[in-house]
Amino acid sequence: MSKLLNKLKYKRDSVTLEELIFLLSTNKFDKKIFEIADEVREKYVGNEVHIRAIIEFSNFCKMDCLYCGLRRQNKNIKRYRMNPEEILKRVRLIAEKNIKTVVLQSGEDPYYNTEIIENLIIEIKKMNLAVTLSIGERNFEEYKIWKNAGADRYLMRHETADPNLYKKLHPSDTFENRKSHLLKLKELGYEIGGGCMVGLPGQGPYELAKDLIFLREIDSDMIGIGPFIPNPETPLRKEKGGNLNTTLKMIALSRILIPTANIPATTAMGSIHPFGRQIALKCGANVIMPNLTPNPYRPNYTLYPNKICLFERDTACINCVKGMITNLGREIGKSFGFRIKNLQTNEV
Ligand code: SF4
Repeated sequence: MSKLLNKLKYKRDSVTLEELIFLLSTNKFDKKIFEIADEVREKYVGNEVHIRAIIEFSNFCKMDCLYCGLRRQNKNIKRYRMNPEEILKRVRLIAEKNIKTVVLQSGEDPYYNTEIIENLIIEIKKMNLAVTLSIGERNFEEYKIWKNAGADRYLMRHETADPNLYKKLHPSDTFENRKSHLLKLKELGYEIGGGCMVGLPGQGPYELAKDLIFLREIDSDMIGIGPFIPNPETPLRKEKGGNLNTTLKMIALSRILIPTANIPATTAMGSIHPFGRQIALKCGANVIMPNLTPNPYRPNYTLYPNKICLFERDTACINCVKGMITNLGREIGKSFGFRIKNLQTNEV
């Protein structure tokens, strides 16, 4: 076993699917894996934790992903759309708070056409912020226009790299298609954010190992990993959901395999455990994404139940995550937090 742990430390590029399946099948080496991930994190991305403020500007979605509370068929949700002025007002507040990245997130909502998004990007760039889009699959021409307008990053979690499972969860989409979008975004110069859920029905060590191999293969600049939390308003309401430990291990192994990636301690981690985000920051994560969606909209962006921070006062999440970072003895990132790539070597 020490041979495999050494391989994680010194020859991560050659870690195989079978070895990852093995590590995901046992809890015996978890402590060591978490330690290595923390060492790799410190060496490659340092002690800074980058804050990315999220604005969930629309909860309309034309898709029907089986696990998601925003899915089209969910009628028990109050839908909302923020208009561009409301969004920009919020962005101004984020800039005033000295946060360097804004994440514009929504369901797949064609109401926001090419031009609306383009103008938002142009206005936000005037405020000297990095712009991350997280608005689902759009057409390649739009990606290009938005890149030219100044967009920096695009989050598009692949959710699962197992094509059969992907198809079951996304009736109108395929994994190959998802992959093509991620590769196109990368080709256009975006920092891309893949990532997956952990604990999906039909997902075991083999499927999870494939997620890690896929993230390494596409050299994902950002990696969002969170537990699957069953939503009572979806067809997966009766499923069990993901657990903290396996999700942490996926975060840790992602850090080890792709050492310079930016990896958030996701809100979903904080939703399944009161210290989920703090623990994730000690197991490889280096990013935190406070919710800056204004009220009255915030409680209606219900991807899953028991989501934290829904009723926090306005900008309280900024102070909360800053406190979290300093309490862990880490530093609050002062830069835009782009991926540091020039340190890529094969050793811890
Ligand atoms: S996961 Fe995204 S695309 Fe799928 S239903 Fe939810 S918001 Fe829509």
